[in-house]
Amino acid sequence: MLDKAIDGLKDELIAAVQESVRIPSVAGVPEEGAPFGRNVKLALDHALNVASQLGFRVKNVDNMAGYGEWGDGKEIVAILGHLDVVPEGTGWKYPPFGGEIQNGIIWGRGVLDDKGPTIGALFALKAIKDLNISLKRRIRIIFGTNEESGSQCMARYIQTEELPAAGFTPDAEYPIIYAEKGVLTLTCHFPFSGDGPVKIVSFKGGVAPNVVAATAQVVIRASAEERRRIASIVDAWNGPERSGFKIVEDGVKGTITIEVQGVPAHGSTPHLGVNAILCLVDILSSMDLMKSQKQFIHALSSLIGMETDGTSLGIAMNDDISGALTLCLGTIDGNESDVHFTLNIRYPVTKKDSLVLDPLREALEKAGIAVTDVRHAAPLYMDPESPLIRTLQKVYKEQTGFNPDLLAIGGGTYAKSVPNVVAFGPIFPGQKYTIHEENECWSIEDLMKNVKIMAHAMVELAR
Ligand SMILES: [Zn+2]
Repeated sequence: MLDKAIDGLKDELIAAVQESVRIPSVAGVPEEGAPFGRNVKLALDHALNVASQLGFRVKNVDNMAGYGEWGDGKEIVAILGHLDVVPEGTGWKYPPFGGEIQNGIIWGRGVLDDKGPTIGALFALKAIKDLNISLKRRIRIIFGTNEESGSQCMARYIQTEELPAAGFTPDAEYPIIYAEKGVLTLTCHFPFSGDGPVKIVSFKGGVAPNVVAATAQVVIRASAEERRRIASIVDAWNGPERSGFKIVEDGVKGTITIEVQGVPAHGSTPHLGVNAILCLVDILSSMDLMKSQKQFIHALSSLIGMETDGTSLGIAMNDDISGALTLCLGTIDGNESDVHFTLNIRYPVTKKDSLVLDPLREALEKAGIAVTDVRHAAPLYMDPESPLIRTLQKVYKEQTGFNPDLLAIGGGTYAKSVPNVVAFGPIFPGQKYTIHEENECWSIEDLMKNVKIMAHAMVELAR
């Protein structure tokens, strides 16, 4: 009955998803009444309008978030989605903000991440409302608008708005993510003092703290003779597989530039990449740099080396649920007077952040490295026997026939931003997906399937 009601809403649902995709809601310049930019606000207004037209109670939370809600009861079941998107990039077959349908597939930035699932959730709730299914809890579709750039939307939401008794976010993958590692991102600083005949004047590498650096570059000022010595050290370097280097000498400026190529990987799986910054540290460790720079390079090579598990830093740990701690030195930015770098650490769900931070700070500070900023996202762990997990497993199995395996990941879905929520969908296991890539698209068939799964989950969680 529920499925049939959803099928009856198909045209209206697809049109609403297309309308949302046509709003280029990439984070923009803050304006009065539009803290994440004008287009993000338009996407929020659109979703609130759709929710209101479907007959739900709606609320705009400070133009940062909003919701549509239906039903009665003391508690709420929440479905958490977001309406902001990452920039479109290039290489599109169809217009990135066109919402075009070709051969049963909707094309456009955000259709899968996360406008399709979010607008879809509204129509799942509409079907429940039309059938007047009697439920004990209210169902609330929460619209976030800042997921791609820091989730300030949900930080604002949880300040004043009701928290769910249970819920899910269709912003990752199926079946169910029940464990997400804790994430610590540290910014570190080391000052260079003194002078010397061989001196780093620039050290740059990486694109973001949570990505293994694929390139790194150092510029060293040295005499012609020292430059020859440096070039021979680099030539003799026996780097890891899949790494490479290039040397450029500038006799006029008296500098030699060493560029290292590595392999990028996500910060949660640093062992899959080759860190170009750490390769460069390895090369620099056999050079006769000025004293304070030599100390810094020695610190990095002895405390991290090519490790991705924190052994030498004294923070290696693991648990049965989520596996081993991972460590990624993502970015470095230095000149002749000082250097900053970032560490992205993902620790097991059953461990406390202090168990990582205390020994880490101690090891770094002993080596003269100051920690200037710490960002922390606590781990998420939901008991596999909890009603939320059991219910989602039952619905997933019934609706798809697939095994409702529980997934533990390296951390960081939208579920972390609101309590009692886990990631559930929208991508099926083994499915190729286009999130954050050019040609983001979603088949109408999968969209409809997803709406049906969400509707059944809402009913079961709200019963
Ligand atoms: Zn997303």
